[in-house]
Amino acid sequence: MITVEEALDRVLARARPRPAEITPVADALGLVLAEEVTSDVDSPPHDKSVVDGYAVVAADLAGGEARLEVIEEVVAGAVPTRHVAPGQATRLMTGAPLPPGADAVVMVENAQVLPRPDGGVERVLLRGSQVRPGQNIMRRGTSLRRGQAVLGPGHLLRAVEIGLLCEVGRVEVQAVPRSTVAVLPTGNELVPPVDLPAAGQIRNSNGPMLLAAARRVGAEPVDLGVGRDDPDELRRLIQQGLAADVLVLSGGVSAGVLDLVPRVLAELGVEQVFHKVRLKPGKPLWFGVANVEGFDKLVFGLPGNPVSSLVCFELFVRPAIERLAGRQKRGPKRTTARLATRHVHRGERPTYHPARLKPGPDGDEVEPVAWHGSADLLGLVEADALVCFPAGDRTHEAGSRLDVYLLE
Ligand code: AMP
Ligand code: MG
Repeated sequence: MITVEEALDRVLARARPRPAEITPVADALGLVLAEEVTSDVDSPPHDKSVVDGYAVVAADLAGGEARLEVIEEVVAGAVPTRHVAPGQATRLMTGAPLPPGADAVVMVENAQVLPRPDGGVERVLLRGSQVRPGQNIMRRGTSLRRGQAVLGPGHLLRAVEIGLLCEVGRVEVQAVPRSTVAVLPTGNELVPPVDLPAAGQIRNSNGPMLLAAARRVGAEPVDLGVGRDDPDELRRLIQQGLAADVLVLSGGVSAGVLDLVPRVLAELGVEQVFHKVRLKPGKPLWFGVANVEGFDKLVFGLPGNPVSSLVCFELFVRPAIERLAGRQKRGPKRTTARLATRHVHRGERPTYHPARLKPGPDGDEVEPVAWHGSADLLGLVEADALVCFPAGDRTHEAGSRLDVYLLE
């Protein structure tokens, strides 16, 4: 049986990024950029005030205060029309362009408008002993210059990049599109969550859970409904699922009499890359590739137990979806941490036990949560990580250092 690391290598070796497409920036959140983006403007486009205040000649305040004539008011969006000479000031709102002649801005908090004599000019008393040229001014092109490359291929587009793309005038970009992920839970015992399960039945948690997990990774989920343990029905639904970039099945991959999934996949010409991985929970995991009209479709047969399904999704399916999306990271974030409490492990496979990371006196500690195995989703709710206990019967003392995979 192959190890988790080897299985992940084999999955990633078959997951090639999808070709980039022109995408509206408004729809590009979470996608990976596939081009170099340059700015078509200087930012800021002019010398601008970074505060509400008065544009002045700094030398006027050499004595610590000055009474100046207010010659104009410039709100954001307007442009100054008058030159500021010594003895004068222009009232500016944040972001307004600096008028010619002025070389500093005194903030409004340090200004006092003086009573205006009838028909007289408006005057203001400004205070500030340290007013230097350039104060409260952001010079044209300080943050970026026209023609400058601001983002490159491979960059993940978060909210900040969406804002930056808009700042440099882009409404469309070349980006790697979302992949489609079809989800097909299988099993005669499955009933919809609205039903109360009768004897022998169980609610279908995996379907909605895996659709949600796919959406969470930025893929476009495709709901194939539920497949009965019947070769003809499975064949029909799997064929439908192969229209997607990734097909995720759950159940039917172990050694039971109704575990038909590997057989049906083989009949449909899906190439098996591996079946079974040395881990707990998740040993029966099946992975293969189908070539459909020249495109490699990734097919995962996840074990039916919900925790096994979700753990396999995090360890293998999620990294594959991220790779299709053009992201370079290799699987879940890994770290090591000291065990917070003594733990007895038994088993001939490494166990990925749901756990919580918490700060301790010597860095992060990991605490296994109470968990009753691969059917116990409630245990997993408390976890934000998986702690890996190596194969073998052994007592791990508090303080021993173990590998930890972070869940998202
Ligand atoms: P299987 O891998 O098909 O042998 O299923 C293993 C266990 O997982 C059985 O107890 C199933 O009832 C359960 N199971 C399978 N599919 C689902 C599902 N979609 N939701 C919840 N439990 C499931
Ligand atoms: Mg089954």
